[in-house]
Amino acid sequence: MRQAGRVVAEVLELLREKIVPGVTTLELDRLAEKECAKRKARPAFKGYGGFPFTICASPNEKVVHGFPDATPLREGDILSVDFGVVLEDFFGDAAITVPVGRVDEGRRRLIDVASEALRQGIARAVAGGRLSDVSHAVQAHVEAQGFSIVREFVGHGIGRQLHESPQLPNFGPPGQGPRLKAGMTLAIEPMINAGGPAVAILQDGWTAVTVDGLPSAHFEHTVAITDQGVEILTML
Ligand code: MG
Repeated sequence: MRQAGRVVAEVLELLREKIVPGVTTLELDRLAEKECAKRKARPAFKGYGGFPFTICASPNEKVVHGFPDATPLREGDILSVDFGVVLEDFFGDAAITVPVGRVDEGRRRLIDVASEALRQGIARAVAGGRLSDVSHAVQAHVEAQGFSIVREFVGHGIGRQLHESPQLPNFGPPGQGPRLKAGMTLAIEPMINAGGPAVAILQDGWTAVTVDGLPSAHFEHTVAITDQGVEILTML
């Protein structure tokens, strides 16, 4: 899983550098596919439940599961990219939200709060704790900053499958759910809205958007709980 996680981190880092005004998300998708092949990894999302692309590309009011397309990104957009691979039968899964050029203060803050929410969730992924300690840490940070948590999509166990139990909501009281143990591997992935929490699914059957049209941010890491603490597998 470390190797799969490293591939995910490397490719996302390459994509991050390419996210500038004028690039299309379809170009990013092709780049991700090419970089997977170089590393002998298989894109985890392509074909998953019929999803047709290597990356999920979700700009602005799109929350998750957006289709890459030929629309050039514009200065001031934000773009969430979710990406996973399978390498030697093990999965890695991560997401980043990136400003396109210069973005306004509200979007900048949304990205910062979502990123920090993931960091705080990861900090609670410790052996001996409970799963919902992670959920609660994410929710507490996000709501204290005046943003809202998407409830329809959740984090998950990950390993030999992309999505394994347990489900990991980004909200809820602490101290509930399974006891966290060394050897567990989780994908922690807060999705944060600038406005209300409500989301809708577009006609394509995949793309989740905010109902109020305000922007949304998504960060994700695959982590392993060890006796020495949490290890982030999708970070270089
Ligand atoms: Mg995931």
